[in-house]
Amino acid sequence: MTDAVTLITTKRDGGHLSDDDIRWLFDAYARREVADEQMSALLMAIYFQGLDGRELRTWTAAMIDSGERLDLTSLTRPTVDKHSTGGVGDKVSLILAPLVASCGGAVPQLSGRGLGHTGGTLDKLESIPGFRTALSPAETIAVLARVGCVICAAGSGLAPADRRLYALRDVTGTVESIPLIASSIMSKKIAEGTSALVLDVKVGSGAFMTDLDRARELARTMVALGEEHNVRTTAVLTRMDTPLGRAAGNAVEVEESVQALQGHGPADLMEVTLALAAQMLALAGLDADPAAAIADGRALAAYRDMVRAQGGDPDAPLPQAQYVQTALPAIADGWLRRLDALAVGTAAWRLGAGRARKEDPVSAAAGVICLAKPGDRVTKGQPLLELRADDPGKMAAALAVLDGAATVSDQPLPPLPSPVIEQIP
Ligand code: URA
Repeated sequence: MTDAVTLITTKRDGGHLSDDDIRWLFDAYARREVADEQMSALLMAIYFQGLDGRELRTWTAAMIDSGERLDLTSLTRPTVDKHSTGGVGDKVSLILAPLVASCGGAVPQLSGRGLGHTGGTLDKLESIPGFRTALSPAETIAVLARVGCVICAAGSGLAPADRRLYALRDVTGTVESIPLIASSIMSKKIAEGTSALVLDVKVGSGAFMTDLDRARELARTMVALGEEHNVRTTAVLTRMDTPLGRAAGNAVEVEESVQALQGHGPADLMEVTLALAAQMLALAGLDADPAAAIADGRALAAYRDMVRAQGGDPDAPLPQAQYVQTALPAIADGWLRRLDALAVGTAAWRLGAGRARKEDPVSAAAGVICLAKPGDRVTKGQPLLELRADDPGKMAAALAVLDGAATVSDQPLPPLPSPVIEQIP
């Protein structure tokens, strides 16, 4: 028998928590015998002292066991999912889930909403008239069995301890801890019941991780956790210095995803999507060519099936913004060297596409369109962005954050590096 203060001081002083300590902690926290302020103090101690491999494994297992697990064993197709740590214009899930489904996989994408400058997959899909993201576990499995993919909200029964811990971390400066991030993400993905998982760990100005070494450490930590819990897991590190594709927002990203499924996706978006698809198919043991599934329309057909199965109308017009204006004129003739992801993501957020608090509503139509991408030839005064909003009063705040968001080179630039940096392992 232990107590919260002993666990806090043990960790504070660089000691290790036993498996029994961690199990006791989560049970007592669920019974409200450990108070939020004690859990917060422990999270801060973990922020500074970390968790060793055994502690992290047990911590993650306790988070999974705090709720239910989705049982996907009735599915005949191999299950495989993807998780992205989040970025600007990151609409990959909307393309990837139906793409992998059209190649024979079952993709149980239990997703989240956007917070801050990174968008959320559910917010994007909800811009499709009628689309429902709140599905019961039975409905989730039925859509998966019928279509091969589902993109819906993770129910409140999945890793509920993470929900409480994340809320504490958010207000106590303890989000940016690799073991806490890794256990938070992986507990939800493992509870979701997938057999295989590909992690897209984004690195750069618009990502959660701006430093390559830390992104690599996070990726390795999550891969190890997946393997320890019998989920075949790999990771891909991808660049997030500039928005992925051209659109950042909700309906605008759905529109770009449909174009991508029709074979007209921007090069960077397609490169990331196809790299992730190849990894997912390999982990699922499926021998299929994802580029061919886009070219012959199978992936688009799976997307349309998924939208209909979740109550949406794939042919309905998407919401359009009432106010549209161009912005960010190029400062010189030349080649666009940099278009900053964080600035564009923050502009989209201020235009109404994102939320400041998790209960805030989002605008379906608001967002930013990149009229030029790094490497493109530009002329002085040419607008680099288009801003869209429902409320003209939001334009000024978006414009303010875009000051200095682009740089132009007077020399042609070397070919851009691939957005895919490396794979782990
Ligand atoms: N996303 C999560 O789900 N958890 C974290 O801790 C960070 C990002």
